[in-house]
Amino acid sequence: MLRRIPIYVATLPVDLFAWLLVLTIHLLHGQGLRWRDGVLSTELKPGSFPIRRGTWPVGWYLYDRASGRPWGGTSIGHAMFHSPGQRAPLDQPLTPHEVHEHHHVRQAEAAQIAAFLIAFLVLVTLLALEAWITAAWLPLVIWSLGGNLAVSAGGWIAAAIRGDRRGFYRGSAHEVGAYAVGDLAALRPGQVEP
Ligand SMILES: [Zn+2]
Repeated sequence: MLRRIPIYVATLPVDLFAWLLVLTIHLLHGQGLRWRDGVLSTELKPGSFPIRRGTWPVGWYLYDRASGRPWGGTSIGHAMFHSPGQRAPLDQPLTPHEVHEHHHVRQAEAAQIAAFLIAFLVLVTLLALEAWITAAWLPLVIWSLGGNLAVSAGGWIAAAIRGDRRGFYRGSAHEVGAYAVGDLAALRPGQVEP
């Protein structure tokens, strides 16, 4: 765990937001708050507000409003929330769905480290130029948004520009990768790491 501290330094601004968001969702609609493999997660209660059918914002987490099917889960930084029954008990291997979401965590870590390094270079450049006011905010913005812009927005935009036949969302490189490891985990239960 200690060796992961530099990763958490790089992901700190995203994690502060993500942990607050997941704690809020947990307090309002969740159950089973837990920490596993370096990630804080909760699970939406069956029939809770985000996954109940009704007039929006009721059911804001439904993937298909007609059938009432919710999204499986969402990860932001080192935090996740899941639909009911998508997580394995702590003494059992991650479910294929969890392997998918934890793969997104690995992607976010890599992109966030890049964002941290770019923000640091920008900070040094601005300080050398004595641009004190810009130095006070621009590196922080790059550090906070850079990782998600690189992975999520970058992947979606590239898939949209390619006209990927799977659509901009499912055709994005980060989703193709996460679905691939998730599918592999379904074929080899307990043997695939995210
Ligand atoms: Zn995904």
